[in-house]
Formats: sequence, structure tokens, C-alpha cells
Amino acid sequence: MPVEKIPEKNTILFVWFNHYAGILIKTPSKTIVIDPVDVKPRNLQETDAILITHEHYDHLDQRLIKEIQKRTGCQVIADPASTRSLKNIIPPSQMLEIRPGEETKIGEVTVKAEKCQHPAAQPVTFIITSEDGVKTFHTADSLPFPEMAQIGEKEKLDIAFCTVGIAPGASAETGFEIARLTKPQIAVPYHTNSTASQKRFAEILKAQMPRTACLIPELNKIYQVTKRK
Ligand SMILES: [Zn+2]
Repeated sequence: MPVEKIPEKNTILFVWFNHYAGILIKTPSKTIVIDPVDVKPRNLQETDAILITHEHYDHLDQRLIKEIQKRTGCQVIADPASTRSLKNIIPPSQMLEIRPGEETKIGEVTVKAEKCQHPAAQPVTFIITSEDGVKTFHTADSLPFPEMAQIGEKEKLDIAFCTVGIAPGASAETGFEIARLTKPQIAVPYHTNSTASQKRFAEILKAQMPRTACLIPELNKIYQVTKRK
């Protein structure tokens, strides 16, 4: 899985590396890893920042984060509850707590936290904007919520990750609702171990939003996303 290729201008690469919200995003200058669990640290040698959405076991693995951070010296940016359980194992200078509405920079890459509709302590979702403006909405395992419509309108998203399973209330239908609200160029059904739900998501999307591309990712494969014109 190590991503050796460097994306071209106006492009990012991404990898989905577990059945949950584990995503690696590589921009021309930075590599960002979100919610790493069930992944080998040696596959994440290049990490500049780790983002954590909430404290559940399928999103937060303290030992793994500690090991990646030690190997790479990367920054860790996390919701308040995850920050509390990481603060004794990550150097304070590299640990940043983030709440909905707050924004931070990793070099030229911007990370903004938004609300997350999921039964955790203070979960967040992330909007990641690459140095040349490619926009990713990483929705953790959130259900759809009304403010997603404003996020979609404001951000003009290139790609949105949509939860279709393994979370209370999540289904192909709620995943589609995220795509409907956020209107990305590319919608990706994830957070599931069921290809049937991903296919169902693709069918609904094709019927209701024919101009939105559906990308059903395979685990550990590299995909390329180019900024929309
Ligand atoms: Zn989850």
C-alpha cells in the first residue's frame, strides 16, 4: 500500500485501507492519514498528519497512532475525547484538539472540522483542502445532517466519503442522503464490509444523481481525484 507516486497539480491520491473510515490522502506536498486502525505502520512511513474523528475502536487505536507518530514525527489532530486519550502518549507540541468549526493547516493543506451525527462523545468530520484546492469531505461514520447541504454549497466538494454500514442507523440509503446533500463530483460508499450495500448506494446514486460519479473503492488500491473545472 505505500503510495510512492506523487500526484500531479490539481490532483490528489487516496487509499481506503480498512472496512471503516481509514483513508490516506496524498496531495502534491503532504500525506494525511485519517482514522488509522487495522493497518501496518510501515505502510504509513510518509505520514505528515494523522486525523482522528472520534474515540470508537474502529477509528482510534492509541498504540498504532503512537507508533506512526514516533516513526514519522507527524502531527496528530483529533476530536476532544480522542485528544484526552492521546495526550499522554503524543508529544504536546504535535497534538492538536479540534472541534466543529475550527480549522488548521498542515503546510499549505487546510483541515477544517465540521459536526458529525454519530453517538460518540464529541465526534467531528473533516474537510481537507489540498494546496491546489482539491476538496475532500471525510464524514467519519456520520449519518446525514441538514448542515451538510450548506457545506456542499460552500465547499464545492470534489469527493465525499459516505458511510453505508457498520454504524447505528447507517445504510446505503443514509449514505446516498449524504451524497444528495453535499453534491460532490465523486461519491464514495465506505465504512462497510458489504459490497451489496456499496452496489445499492451506486444504484440509488445513478438513478437520482446521474451526474455524480460513484467510485466503489477496493481496499488498499490507489485512486486519483482531479479538481473539477
Ligand atoms: Zn466507525
